[in-house]
Amino acid sequence: MSRPPATTRWPIDDILARTDLAALLDEFAQPDQRARRWHCPLNDHDDNHASVTMHRDQRGHERWRCWSGDQRHRGDAVDLVQAVRGNTRAEAIEELATRAGLQPGRELPSIAPRKPTLPPAVVLDERVVAYANICARLLWSPLGTPVREWLHNRGLGDDVLRANHVGADPGRDRLRRSHGIPYGAGPGATFPALDVNGQIRYVQTRALEPRPGYGKYDNPSAALAPNPRLTWAVPPCRTQPGQLLICEGIPDALIAAQAGYRSVGLLGSNALDPTVAARIANVATRDNLDITIVTDNDDNGVGKHLGQYLADRLGTEEHVVTILEPPEGHDLSSWSIEDSTWIGGVGHRLTGDRSARRDPSMWSPQVPTECAFEPSIP
Ligand SMILES: [Zn+2]
Repeated sequence: MSRPPATTRWPIDDILARTDLAALLDEFAQPDQRARRWHCPLNDHDDNHASVTMHRDQRGHERWRCWSGDQRHRGDAVDLVQAVRGNTRAEAIEELATRAGLQPGRELPSIAPRKPTLPPAVVLDERVVAYANICARLLWSPLGTPVREWLHNRGLGDDVLRANHVGADPGRDRLRRSHGIPYGAGPGATFPALDVNGQIRYVQTRALEPRPGYGKYDNPSAALAPNPRLTWAVPPCRTQPGQLLICEGIPDALIAAQAGYRSVGLLGSNALDPTVAARIANVATRDNLDITIVTDNDDNGVGKHLGQYLADRLGTEEHVVTILEPPEGHDLSSWSIEDSTWIGGVGHRLTGDRSARRDPSMWSPQVPTECAFEPSIP
């Protein structure tokens, strides 16, 4: 597997000067969109908190550091490649040389003046929307078959997939893309984040087989798209009035939408900027919605903590907020596949005084038939 040892000795200062460490971190680690931070790319560090930052040392070299305190989780670009790939220093240098366009026996191209780092985008770049739309078309083509099967196996039916522009990224070998679009090392499902009007504002690509050392999700770079922190899922059918479900992640929000609920998906459990609760509350007030927070229960308490945090902020006199917790070891997707009566849990919580104020015939805990999806059993 490993390549023959490099025979060319590249000047390391030159290699580092020709390497954009931030771009490398964007690729090798999951970026945190709020700040110039990344989730630690090392396998042995399950880094919920985006602990990696960048700085420049006295020699002008860019360096990264994970604040876990582990001395191995830091260094320059060569150390990063070595840490992620698990290869030798010579192999890491060779990879960076190749990436920088250096070739043995050829004179070094003159070095480009260092580009200042692009500031985080304020407005969504249309290439992100184009990528999401192309992938949404590919889902229904033969190239999309493995992704479609993967989505079906997770309980998502065609109607909700179409309504929410879910797509298939066949991988960068088959679909070229500009820098800053999700990398696409292999096939992935694309989940657009939609605004309250159903417009695509962002997209997350879920690798069908995440590579070791990488997160499950890949996002557009912060320079192309501001992370909206949440998505408004579109139910593919008539909705249960009066109820808004808040879920962790876009796939769970789609499960709720498929069951006929208006739903919000939070893009990542560390996505709690102060505007999230306020934006949800605004819509809940406008449309007179009670709120049910469906927490993950497969993540050592992170989901419960998130649910409580949101409940504290949303539970005002104006809003009835309840928390619905899947059984231990489940998120909503896995729960809904195992137990199709999960919806009854939402209905059960609704028997409070608030629902009595509404016409009880207005909603029922039954799944509307046109909304039901039975996962196909092979
Ligand atoms: Zn670390």
